[in-house]
Amino acid sequence: MAMDYIVRAIGAGGNVKVSVITARETVERARQIHKTLPVGTAALGRTLCAASMMGNAMKEEKGSLTIQIKGGGPLGTITAVSDHTGNVKGYLQNPAVDLPLKENGKLDVGTAVGTNGILAVIKDIGLESPFIGQVELLSGEIADDIAVYFTESEQIGTACALGVLVDRDQSVRAAGGYLLQAMPGADDAVITKLENVVMSAGPITKMLDSGMTPEEITSRLLGPIGEFQILSRNEVGYVCDCTKERVERALISMGTAELTALIKEQKKAEITCQFCDRVYNFNESDLDNLLKNAKKA
Ligand SMILES: [Zn+2]
Repeated sequence: MAMDYIVRAIGAGGNVKVSVITARETVERARQIHKTLPVGTAALGRTLCAASMMGNAMKEEKGSLTIQIKGGGPLGTITAVSDHTGNVKGYLQNPAVDLPLKENGKLDVGTAVGTNGILAVIKDIGLESPFIGQVELLSGEIADDIAVYFTESEQIGTACALGVLVDRDQSVRAAGGYLLQAMPGADDAVITKLENVVMSAGPITKMLDSGMTPEEITSRLLGPIGEFQILSRNEVGYVCDCTKERVERALISMGTAELTALIKEQKKAEITCQFCDRVYNFNESDLDNLLKNAKKA
């Protein structure tokens, strides 16, 4: 089975950057964990692809990047979190949403996500408070909204494509995307060329489904502009880093009153990780110990 990976490259004398991801395995894993129906698979998958590329572009080790989309549509809030290598995890509020296809036969991601809300990007690089940028949703199709985020919040002219192709058996047939970015030094001629390249490249799902690799997609995007250099190639996947310790800390942070009530009423706790559905069980004496720790805190 092909591994998912991200290629990053620069062209036009360093004035144009591109990231390309192929992420079939990652999105299929997300589908299996969250039991999403096709429109949810596409919405969550696109968000995971974007977060993975944006996390992979971070320089800070231990940095993490979160995309949160609250569009007011039936899917509810969508969250994706990437580490600095591009390994991602995510979830959406209502995975079982089903909507009729659009007239062109495509999944109606825009309606499922909604357009009455915001897309927020939270970058945590280990400082006291994280960097948060947010934009109002334009189309709810996610790729356009990511492009608007970069233009408005980071002042980087960006073309973004994200695609998830769902097969007849609802499994993921292809998934991936690209970010094509003009640095502030890029002149108008380069930007015009980029616009033409994006137009003639065609839909990302078509490129991926025809078997094009991220390297080949990079070449299609940057080749027409001139020489380019591949900077990195990183394997990525769906990774959840939850641990019992982390869940314990979350329970302790509930506070002593809540914990005492929980012990009294239920005598145990069964906590499910929202990213990977792993279940953590706590019996009464586990909870008593946590309560002792909470009182010390
Ligand atoms: Zn987990």
